[in-house]
Amino acid sequence: MSMTTADELPWDVESLRGDFPILASEIYGGVPLTYLDNAATTQRPRQVIEAMTTAYERQYANVHRGLHYLSELSTDLYENARDTVQRFLNARRVHEVIFTAGTTASINLVARSWGDANLRAGDEILLTEMEHHSNIVPWQQLACRTGCRVRFLPVTDGGQLVLDALDDFLTERTKLVSVVAVSNVLGTINPVSTIVRRAHQAGALVLVDAAQSVPHGTTDVQAWDADFVAFSGHKMLGPSGIGVLYGRETILESMPPFLGGGSMIRRVTLEGFEPADLPSRFEAGTPPIVPAIGLAAAADYLQQIGLENIHRYEQGLTAQAQAMISRLDGVRILGPGPDLRGGMISFVVEGIQANDLAMTLDEQGVAVRAGHHCAMPLHARLGVSASTRASFYFYNTPAEIERLGEALHKALRVLRRKP
Ligand code: PLP
Repeated sequence: MSMTTADELPWDVESLRGDFPILASEIYGGVPLTYLDNAATTQRPRQVIEAMTTAYERQYANVHRGLHYLSELSTDLYENARDTVQRFLNARRVHEVIFTAGTTASINLVARSWGDANLRAGDEILLTEMEHHSNIVPWQQLACRTGCRVRFLPVTDGGQLVLDALDDFLTERTKLVSVVAVSNVLGTINPVSTIVRRAHQAGALVLVDAAQSVPHGTTDVQAWDADFVAFSGHKMLGPSGIGVLYGRETILESMPPFLGGGSMIRRVTLEGFEPADLPSRFEAGTPPIVPAIGLAAAADYLQQIGLENIHRYEQGLTAQAQAMISRLDGVRILGPGPDLRGGMISFVVEGIQANDLAMTLDEQGVAVRAGHHCAMPLHARLGVSASTRASFYFYNTPAEIERLGEALHKALRVLRRKP
């Protein structure tokens, strides 16, 4: 893969970085920040911060409740945000977009509502060995409640799904396949449409954990043909505390509400309640109003840049980083080559703890993550307990990758010298 050079950049990255005040920070009293922890959370441009500030300063009241000016305005902005997300995902219907607190909340909603209503002892849920804990634990909890069984499609040593095993794992007992679109450790881009087609042929529904894919490339839920798609606002320039569950209309309509309370009902009597229509049925209580407005501003910003451009640009940064890291002594990169991965690289260095490495990089202004990245089973599968992860976004530059390289060289020198 060819590297993106400064001349080939699809945008003026320096002027675009001007939209992100935090990227110009100096830390520890003068060390310039190189922010390479974007898989954990991204930074926010002024446009998102301003949309939220304006909402709080001039447009804020509770939604769907009051018959007064501000409440109507706030409701319009909240529902417009849903329209924006619908277009962003190419969802068929706007009420297929449910606002949640994030990917974790979205997956738990499906497990609690759809899972509890539909799964029995003997049924199976198929996950993969590369899932984030938030796409493992809710299903393990469901298994405890219902007696269903959770199975895992294996991962190769090179960090790809063993798709050849799919036919053996998909049986008439499989009721749901829940799979990550882009691994948050390996960066592996999974063939979602293929998995959906084969799962549907076997009669299973499919949930896609799109936390690491939606921010970095075009998402078309109709092209995927997935039944559920979950993602978080904070990983795509939006605020934390907001995420989305996309669900196919017919399936969402068949599901009982998960959280009970205000807004999710049509009528309540002392004897019982009648649930509201979509999407309110799954949005009990006061929703994340301003975060939804921020999320819509983030989606607009990303679309202005172009998600295909973002994907291509990040592949260039990743190729540059992968080539640089693979030349380091005693380093093992987890996952596939740059053509098959999203914008992140996790690696382990012989004889050096991931935490020590991350802290030594941090002293040089380079922010990365170290640990198991909420994917302990994947690390166990690969025979390591922790890794160091550098993850990129469209506002990172080739110069920052070089800075990462210099910082890594220095860190390895320092840490190898220690007794
Ligand atoms: N799934 C993947 C692949 C992730 O990377 C993450 C966050 O790191 C999550 C799920 C959970 O997202 P959140 O913590 O925003 O709910």
